[in-house]
Amino acid sequence: MGSGAEFDAIRRLLATWGAAAVGIGDDAAIVDIPAGERLVVSTDATVENVHFRRGWLTAEEIGARAAAAALSDLAAMAATPRGLLVALGLPEEWLGQLDDFARGVGAVAVAAACPIIGGNISASRELTLTLTVLGSAAHPLRRAGAQPGDIIFVTGRLGGAGAAVKALYDGRAPDPAHRVRFASPMPRIREALWLAARGAHAAIDVSDGLLADAAHLARASGVSIALDATALPRVGGVSVDEAAASGEEYELIIAAPREMASLADEFSRTFDLELTAIGTVAAASGEAVTMAGMRGDAHVGHDHLASH
Ligand SMILES: [Mg+2]
Repeated sequence: MGSGAEFDAIRRLLATWGAAAVGIGDDAAIVDIPAGERLVVSTDATVENVHFRRGWLTAEEIGARAAAAALSDLAAMAATPRGLLVALGLPEEWLGQLDDFARGVGAVAVAAACPIIGGNISASRELTLTLTVLGSAAHPLRRAGAQPGDIIFVTGRLGGAGAAVKALYDGRAPDPAHRVRFASPMPRIREALWLAARGAHAAIDVSDGLLADAAHLARASGVSIALDATALPRVGGVSVDEAAASGEEYELIIAAPREMASLADEFSRTFDLELTAIGTVAAASGEAVTMAGMRGDAHVGHDHLASH
């Protein structure tokens, strides 16, 4: 991509983003952080043929999904979004869909109240979107914080994203209720801030799957987590095993004191989203995560997840 084409492309992005893009034009962006808060930063790459295949998603969905995945990491930290940077590797044949990508990124950024503050475009053989998010928090919520006696909660309903990907791999059309969970996840930013303000101890977002991510949280906290398979909130048409393994859900797993359970109804009314108690935290004992109530019971220990 020559410099003329690159500037044209940037102009198209800025035209599509309108007021969602803020402070672009200097050599670098300036981000104000409220006094007493800490900067929270994450970057996330979406690569064609690794994270999705052409034909599975529209260009707008690819953009929206990439933004949601990146912002979900700020949600997991209970950080307020302060800025989003978008680096695009763009093959020639995707150039015609640039406005659609931009629309998808912009819609999620606006919904998360996150200004788009910069980025970069270059020619590329495969489509790549690398999104960097900046946030801030006085007390970021971390993975290490779960305490024995805490309850494990999850937001939303699990299984849709995994079921949709499985159908797509198998060459079937996914159930629309599953597809929307894969194509249009929403970062749970406001939900996380609400939970953190009400005493949540630790959080992680579901990107690898409930069992794997609960194990990450357990290991970081030095505790063991016992999940109740019968309590898992699932989308229709999905088994417990599928819900527990479904990745890229971008829901939140929270460890919180028992009292949080009494706020679940208020949470659901506020966000039109379920908050479900699915397990308990105990002192570390052998396995990071166990899940009882499944056929054969699933035990996920440290060793099995060493590669994570
Ligand atoms: Mg994460």
